[in-house]
Amino acid sequence: MSTVRCRIAPSPSGFLHIGTAKMALFNWLFARSQGGTFLLRLEDTDADRTEEEFVQAMCDGFKWLGIDWDEGPPFGDEPEKGDFGPYRQSQRRDMHHNEGMRLMAEGRAYPCFCTKEELDADRALADAEKRPFRYSRKCRDLTPDEIAAKGDTPFVLRFRVPDGETVVEDLVQGPVTFNNKEFDDFIILKPNGDPIFHLAVVVDDGLMRITHVLRGDDHLTNTPRHIMLFNALGYPLPQFAHLPMVLDEAGKKFSKRMHGANVLDWRDEGYLPETLINYVVMLGWTSEEEGREFFTLEELKHLFNINRLNKSAARFDRKKLDWLNGQHIRMLTPENLRDRLLPILAAKGIDTSGKSPEWLTKMAAICQEKIPTLNNIIDYVDFFFNDVDAYDPKAENKYFRQPDSKAWMEADIRMMSAAEDWTHDALKAAFEAEVEATGVKLGSLVNAARLALTGKPVGPGLFELAELMGKETVLARMNRALEYMKTLS
Ligand code: GLU
Repeated sequence: MSTVRCRIAPSPSGFLHIGTAKMALFNWLFARSQGGTFLLRLEDTDADRTEEEFVQAMCDGFKWLGIDWDEGPPFGDEPEKGDFGPYRQSQRRDMHHNEGMRLMAEGRAYPCFCTKEELDADRALADAEKRPFRYSRKCRDLTPDEIAAKGDTPFVLRFRVPDGETVVEDLVQGPVTFNNKEFDDFIILKPNGDPIFHLAVVVDDGLMRITHVLRGDDHLTNTPRHIMLFNALGYPLPQFAHLPMVLDEAGKKFSKRMHGANVLDWRDEGYLPETLINYVVMLGWTSEEEGREFFTLEELKHLFNINRLNKSAARFDRKKLDWLNGQHIRMLTPENLRDRLLPILAAKGIDTSGKSPEWLTKMAAICQEKIPTLNNIIDYVDFFFNDVDAYDPKAENKYFRQPDSKAWMEADIRMMSAAEDWTHDALKAAFEAEVEATGVKLGSLVNAARLALTGKPVGPGLFELAELMGKETVLARMNRALEYMKTLS
């Protein structure tokens, strides 16, 4: 195992957002491609917003995508994994607090007793003078005696920001230089001793020996503070990569409220996790093979290369997602596809219990080339389970109301009745022989028959669906269609 250790550190505030999934995926792929370790750490310190069901919903998203963690908090029946726990930030408060107090003891942080009123007055003055507010550093140089004299007065702990510049050597953005003045002497502990995000994240990354931090570029301006804290705390500095956020189709930040922001919305719409993985990777990474867009997870684990991460944000592209979903559906074995389709059929009240596994596998196989999402299966197979009670009106016009329609159906019935070998190949041969002998169009015979059997203009191929439906049902439905035609004027 290599020394690479990376993590995703989400705040569980509702569900797995597509943007978080993207960051998790790149950290995970990087760890997998390097033989390293991937950690899940829950930044659950915002107690009001962190309900257990939120944690569950988010982790369900990771599980669905197949993003597994080598170290992380307990989840469901799984115990905590890893030697650097606990992996919930809310349980690490003492570590954060102690490391903050160590910085104070070493003179790298100092207590600040300024009251809210004093700071508000300074802020108002800065506003009036039209200059940015900066902390006055009033408490920076209090002597030990002055501090002792404050007794039990509550204080915040401020980090003593060194003069000069901090350069973020970003793996994606390149070097980005910040003037330390921009950061004031920022607060690291609140008056109640709780850590501020910057301290908590650095202590956790430091103590968990994180080597690479791949995260959203909204954190880029936090990183100089983090670098200063890493250095002050004496932890080795990880490498940083700040990745663009996911944009919606209009080019705006993918809002939490939009459908599809929740990764599991896509599951519910019949997309495969393989598709989402492939798609989300394409939102931020380009393969060395120019133009290639289709990847399986196994391929990505080997091909992923941190140097090919994109600097600019990618827009969500529904068409591409749909295309990829079709491709991934075609890649499944028919058995695997069957197993994914059965719960969808059950949820729609379709009872498949009377069919053998082999029959159901064939059913999956004849739809595999056609369905764009798993949920589309209903339209492609419901007629196997329910009688046809109506015909699509447009198709009826085209295939049942033509001068030759009855002749087509009579020929279909004749051929199907005569078929001794009830297989796709034999039925196809019979139809082709009829075309050869009479000059009638194959499409007319096939489409009229399919409409009789399914009530629909599109669906699986006629011969394969007839084979599966069985001779008796096929003939009954065709005879019914012929009777129906006779009622049409
Ligand atoms: N909880 C932070 C977020 O979700 C984590 C930031 C980080 O990865 O350091 O944005």
